[in-house]
Amino acid sequence: MNFDIDDVSPDFRREVAAFLDEHVTPDLVERCRQTGTNHDWDLHWALGARGWLAGGWPTEYGGRGDEGSFEFLILSDELEQRGIPSDGLGMTMLVANTIMRAGSEEIKRAVLPRALSGEILMCLGYTESHGGSDVAAAKTAAVRDGDNWVINGHKMFTTLAHESEYVFLLTRTNTEEPKHRGLTMFLVPMHAPGVEVQPIWTIGNVRTNATYYTDVVVPDSARVGEIDDGWGVMGIALMFERTGGGADARLFGEAVQAARSVTTNDGRTLLDDDSVRERLSRLAIEREISTLLRLRSQWVQAQGSRSMIEGSMFKLFSAESQVRAASDLLDIFGPLGLIEAGEPAAPGSGEFTHEFRHSIVLPIYGGSSEVQRRIIAERRLGLPRP
Ligand SMILES: Cc1cc2nc3c(=O)[nH]c(=O)nc-3n(C[C@H](O)[C@H](O)[C@H](O)COP(=O)(O)OP(=O)(O)OC[C@H]3O[C@@H](n4cnc5c(N)ncnc54)[C@H](O)[C@@H]3O)c2cc1C
Repeated sequence: MNFDIDDVSPDFRREVAAFLDEHVTPDLVERCRQTGTNHDWDLHWALGARGWLAGGWPTEYGGRGDEGSFEFLILSDELEQRGIPSDGLGMTMLVANTIMRAGSEEIKRAVLPRALSGEILMCLGYTESHGGSDVAAAKTAAVRDGDNWVINGHKMFTTLAHESEYVFLLTRTNTEEPKHRGLTMFLVPMHAPGVEVQPIWTIGNVRTNATYYTDVVVPDSARVGEIDDGWGVMGIALMFERTGGGADARLFGEAVQAARSVTTNDGRTLLDDDSVRERLSRLAIEREISTLLRLRSQWVQAQGSRSMIEGSMFKLFSAESQVRAASDLLDIFGPLGLIEAGEPAAPGSGEFTHEFRHSIVLPIYGGSSEVQRRIIAERRLGLPRP
């Protein structure tokens, strides 16, 4: 199956690849690893300066009109395949796309040009500690006060809050209605008085945050969508969710290279071992399947479909295959695989132990595997709700 969008896309893909070869240095990757923040401002600004975030967006909101509408898809694809830290880009574009469809004219003009030029990031404030996957149980309250709203509550796992200009915040505005019908979305400035960010460090070295909101005052113009229709707005945002993973090409390349360079007691290399070859082959096959599921999901989205099934299929398969891959890689290299980055003897630049710890989170965030299975079971297979 050929997913190229048109005749110009292969040229653009080559241009992106050359750009990334030049800009994504080992130092950049190391910096992200040290800070636990899957975002690099230099890279983000450089992408914005190229205009690659603004292709296909209306000119009145900082876009390039009809020009370059396919570019972001190809850019995302290249970033994904190379495992380049780009969480900030993914989340910001998700929020920007939602604002484009549900935001007021005022908010579109104020925020979109800054997002599309690469100047600012936006993060997601859905999850609360008591609710977890059940985001509709949100208790963070927004209470109307004249032309303003006063927000009180807290959110868990607000990834990239410490780098963001705004948080896309899910709040409760109505306690009389059933839980899905009393929610409203706001775009809250992170520097507003009363917003507090505290780091949370995960086992995979990724930094996320707890965020606290105490008497935070925002104008009604900060609202995205209708009052009490936050669930509908979240539905739009879900279509642009870009979590997945799947062992990327870089990791696979490093695994093959490392397996070739490690010699066993009988003088052969690890790559000569049939069980190693079999596992690496499975990794390559699952990587290909992940890529195809991702491309299909993007293609369905590009057709204007609101289907979420393809995204769920990609998320479920890629997250779980990456857990399998990370586990296999650690197994293949044994104790050597545990050596951390920075040590000369570390195979694959210490990537395998890092990947093993990082992969744990993949079936959890962005909708857990069980939640994805439910979506697929109910909406694609037509099974009854449990
Ligand atoms: C590193 C990290 C970054 C994150 N970043 C963000 C972010 O930026 N913004 C944000 O808003 N959130 C973020 N999250 C939150 C993430 O999306 C939630 O953690 C996730 O939705 C699961 O919630 P929970 O961890 O409380 O688990 P729970 O929801 O308590 O789930 C516990 C277990 O029950 C299962 N389960 C839950 N509900 C169902 C169901 N209906 N059917 C079947 N099984 C179910 C789950 O699969 C899981 O196995 C992040 C989480 C992590 C760990």
